[in-house]
Amino acid sequence: MKYSSTRGDSVQVTAAEAIIKGLAADSGLFVPDELPRISPSFIEELVPLSYEERAVKVLRLFLTDYTDEELKTCVENAYGKGKFDCAGRAPVTDLGAMQVLELWHGPTSAFKDMALQLLPQLMSTALKKTGEQDNVLILVATSGDTGKAALEGFRDVDQISIMVFYPEGGVSRIQQLQMLTQEGKNVNVTAVRGNFDDAQSGVKVIFANQAFNEQLAEKGVKLSSANSINWGRLVPQIVYYFSAYADLRKNGRIAAGEEVNFTVPTGNFGNILAGFYAKQMGLPVHKLICASNANNVLTDFLQTGRYDRNRAFYKTITPSMDILISSNLERLLYHVTGDKEQVADWMAELNNSGSYEVDVKTRGIIKETFWADWVDDAATKKCIKQVYGQHKYVLDTHTAVAYQVAENYRHATHDEHVMVVASTASPYKFNGSVLDALQAETAGLDEFALLDKLQELNENPIPAGLAALRTKTVLHKGVCDKDKMNEAVMNFIAR
Ligand SMILES: *Cc1c(COP(=O)(O)O)cnc(C)c1O
Repeated sequence: MKYSSTRGDSVQVTAAEAIIKGLAADSGLFVPDELPRISPSFIEELVPLSYEERAVKVLRLFLTDYTDEELKTCVENAYGKGKFDCAGRAPVTDLGAMQVLELWHGPTSAFKDMALQLLPQLMSTALKKTGEQDNVLILVATSGDTGKAALEGFRDVDQISIMVFYPEGGVSRIQQLQMLTQEGKNVNVTAVRGNFDDAQSGVKVIFANQAFNEQLAEKGVKLSSANSINWGRLVPQIVYYFSAYADLRKNGRIAAGEEVNFTVPTGNFGNILAGFYAKQMGLPVHKLICASNANNVLTDFLQTGRYDRNRAFYKTITPSMDILISSNLERLLYHVTGDKEQVADWMAELNNSGSYEVDVKTRGIIKETFWADWVDDAATKKCIKQVYGQHKYVLDTHTAVAYQVAENYRHATHDEHVMVVASTASPYKFNGSVLDALQAETAGLDEFALLDKLQELNENPIPAGLAALRTKTVLHKGVCDKDKMNEAVMNFIAR
């Protein structure tokens, strides 16, 4: 299977090349030239398998230049070896009206682990397969979750090192400790004197600085990125849609071939797009429901066909969804229209004016599959309290957005298909807002006391990675000015 850009560049690359490059030369995203189709028996055969075995079966349909042996090793390194705290890796919890797909059992307690555990393995294998001699340096600017998940995924991976920049004072104490205590011989974490945008622009400037990249090349180093436009971050996510369906078959919740719905809390449109790929491949999915917070640019787009980022930006209790440019939507537009020139035009409009509008036909096709709604912070908290009251089950804030939107969908449509809600973070990761929603007394409690407090209410224990922070040593103390990030990179390379 070959990959090429969503924007018309006709260069075709293998999956390994797409994963190393990250972005196509014309700034488009790599997409497969055709989508594999599965038969009903493919799904039935997944039912008795482990998550790792299911993953190899799905991945091999897209990563056709990797051998089964290579994929098996990658998957074992990513999901095996005690890194996940439950045997199912991504289990489905039955709450009666809703099936909750828990994607946060990995080392950093957020769904980013599902992809960022596997991407480094796929990238390291790709370097070997393509005979690349240089070392790769992954640069990440983070507002919290992605940085830690990327550090944990890339630590001690052959031929690759990783450097994470975060805004000094701009992440939660737990998130900061998670990063500063990161072990591994190929990792660095540096605080930037500035906000997230400063850190992000700093990284972009480094990527675009040709002289600097030539200096790096002399030292045998190439830059790459781990953000969610990389195909190697998207393809691992397709797996858990199949796995969730196989689990529902396994416990008899659905009949063979029965269609189900998925509701997904959405930011960059990466998670839900993986669900779209699964549906296109033949997984029996009726609707994909896109759940947003007050930054409801996707709700508006899916309802009206007009994407408009020119609007107020809100800081919410679901920070991982506080996004106004959902990069992966570009891939959906390509698959729906099959027209790369058109996609390139819309993306140029977005870049120039901050908005674009798709034609009626495209809008119609998207609406056949997607439904969308959003909820505010108050409704999110109310949902956490209500679900806890009914089931003694604690939702994180992002998951609660999806749960509430799933209920809104049912109410609006009377569609009774089995509903799977994607749960994207452990409630412990956002303990302050969650305890607030549960109306617990939190005055004067520090981060660790908050974890203990939530533990009193939650049947699931505190995840090991978060509990261990109490006693871990801070290993990364670097701080730099926002215009000195390239010096920090050079110092890290020269270490
Ligand atoms: C990243 C993230 C999301 C959004 O996922 P996208 O793939 O960007 O749509 C939702 N919830 C949590 C907890 C996340 O970390």
